[in-house]
Amino acid sequence: MNNIGIYIHIPFCEQKCNYCDFYSICDKSEFDRYTEKLISVIKQSKYTDRVVDTIYFGGGTPSVLGEKRLVAILNTIKQSFEITKDAEITLEVNPCSAEYIDFSVLKSCGFNRLSIGLQSSNEKELKTLGRRHSAKDAQDTVKRARCAGFDNISLDLMLCIPHQTKNSLTESIKFCKDCGVEHISAYILKIEENTPFYKIKNELNLFNDDEQAQFYLHAVEQLDKFGYHQYEISNFSKPQYEGKHNLKYWHDEEYLGFGPSAHSFIDSKRYYYNRSLDDFYNDLIIEDGKGGEIAEYIMLRLRLKEGLKLTNLKDKYNYTVKKSLLTMVNKLCDNQLVTFKNDTIALTTKGFLVSNSIINYIIESL
Ligand code: SF4
Repeated sequence: MNNIGIYIHIPFCEQKCNYCDFYSICDKSEFDRYTEKLISVIKQSKYTDRVVDTIYFGGGTPSVLGEKRLVAILNTIKQSFEITKDAEITLEVNPCSAEYIDFSVLKSCGFNRLSIGLQSSNEKELKTLGRRHSAKDAQDTVKRARCAGFDNISLDLMLCIPHQTKNSLTESIKFCKDCGVEHISAYILKIEENTPFYKIKNELNLFNDDEQAQFYLHAVEQLDKFGYHQYEISNFSKPQYEGKHNLKYWHDEEYLGFGPSAHSFIDSKRYYYNRSLDDFYNDLIIEDGKGGEIAEYIMLRLRLKEGLKLTNLKDKYNYTVKKSLLTMVNKLCDNQLVTFKNDTIALTTKGFLVSNSIINYIIESL
């Protein structure tokens, strides 16, 4: 059996950001009850015979729980599952809740990677997004984490914030580089339904597709210049610092998710919890089909810079490459949207901009 990853969803935030669609509520009174429930659900997992090599606390804002509750949850995982010695254990941190936590305690318990939500180093852009921290708060958080011994830190950046300019984006990227972090995630702003931004989307001066492409290409170029190599559409790192937990998703490997909105993929089946605290308290878990099919595998693999090795399709799915697929791939190569070398199809940076269409063309040509 292969090693698995564990995802813990902490569904609390101090305040909702204007663009955010993740499941989270602002209710401190639930912190203890939720922690107890998580601990009990983890203990009762029927997969405790599996070995775990990545653990990821995401949200919401996991750091709002404070170190005592976070340590109690992580200790429960460690007592319930066998964890590999070199397991990657990540905690998402919001700079404005970082003051609540003692990083040394988290480090001694086993957390060894932090993912800090910066989004921008420009104060106006942070305000537009509804973030409650300043760039300096994020910088101080990185410094405090370093003092506590964290040597693997990621910062999140957002592209195409209304009124962002190429210069301000460059400043944000430079800010991350000056913080000395090992990893940067850079996502293009998407306007999701049920967010404050959605209600005012016509007043937001959003960027069109061409402008978004320019921002993306600029970000990839700048990040590369500062030594952050791209390994996935939106993820960049110094060598050897790729996020192992998220790589599990893109490699179509198994993981268990605990908490409302968390998904699991294990023993060729998918499960998820609804986006509802009450449903989680009531142990409602939804089966979501088999997962791991060839189309899904291709879709996930092509998000990665390393691309899709065609022999893996033969080994994993007994799929023999058809002429129609090769014709399509050659056409995409001619348009510099993919490369095809050593039996591997990989999207180019230009291809990443239209990844959904390319992935669909390839799947339709199978
Ligand atoms: S972006 Fe992060 S901090 Fe903001 S509401 Fe969403 S989960 Fe909470």
